[in-house]
Amino acid sequence: MSLPIFLFHRVSPVKDNWGIAMDPELFEKTIRYLTNHFSIQTVENYFQQEHGREKGALPDACVTFDDGFKDNIEYAAPILKKYNCPASFYIVTDSIDKNIPTWVDIYKHFFEKTCISHLKIESSHFTGKQIEIQFTSNRERNEYGKALFEKIKKLPNSSLMSILDQIQESFYDVELPEKPMLSWEDVNQLKNDGFNIGSHTKTHPFLSSLANDKAILSEFSESGERIRQMTGHFPYTISYPAGDFDNCVIKLARQAGYQLGLKVTQERYKPFQDDIMQIPRIDLYADAGWTKTYLRINGALQKIKELIPDN
Ligand SMILES: [Zn+2]
Repeated sequence: MSLPIFLFHRVSPVKDNWGIAMDPELFEKTIRYLTNHFSIQTVENYFQQEHGREKGALPDACVTFDDGFKDNIEYAAPILKKYNCPASFYIVTDSIDKNIPTWVDIYKHFFEKTCISHLKIESSHFTGKQIEIQFTSNRERNEYGKALFEKIKKLPNSSLMSILDQIQESFYDVELPEKPMLSWEDVNQLKNDGFNIGSHTKTHPFLSSLANDKAILSEFSESGERIRQMTGHFPYTISYPAGDFDNCVIKLARQAGYQLGLKVTQERYKPFQDDIMQIPRIDLYADAGWTKTYLRINGALQKIKELIPDN
């Protein structure tokens, strides 16, 4: 039977324009539904015991979190504990060490919080070697930010970091959020509460766009070693940032010592068919209401999408 593995990021009552934080009320409703209709276990337990485990009355499912935000322990963990719902948290070790969000969230944060209407970025990857733009509204700036993100996210990492620096310089009225990430103490607390801790790399790059194998391998090894150093165990699982990987990335993840690799493709895992280094997950997007979330959980939204082509 296929296995749905659900993915969450943030759970917080604080609203944002980019829709990455799920409201705690919707999160609780989701977890209540999941624990009533599925036998939830961690990804790691499921795959470690796949053959020797007795099948229960309810179908199996897993709950996962990416990125390691502070709200995971503040809002998500108490609800998970209330419903006795096992889960795995995949953390970005540099973000935990420095207590700053991943570059993806820094990018979103600056576009969302700034009041500045002028943006200038120089990069050899742009036509005319630069972008200079004046926004007429917050909405226009946010829409532009979303479109630009899609254009730049797979640029070589050094170019991407330079663009990110220039965005922060242009939007100088914005400060980084204060202590947004889990601390190592929080990570160990989650571990002691029975949750699983895995790696979501060291710096959250688009792995297939890194310059060479060495750079990819160090994202895997250094994050895994850091987790071992701080929690006592090398992680079993790697969650690829933004679900981005290729064959080379998979080979290097294995080489670094990971047993499972997680991607995001809105599909269920098919045992004995899917590669365990490319396990699909279903993102329960935070910007949805209960109806969409319910349809995603039950795979209906994906089926509707397959039936109705884009145009
Ligand atoms: Zn991520």
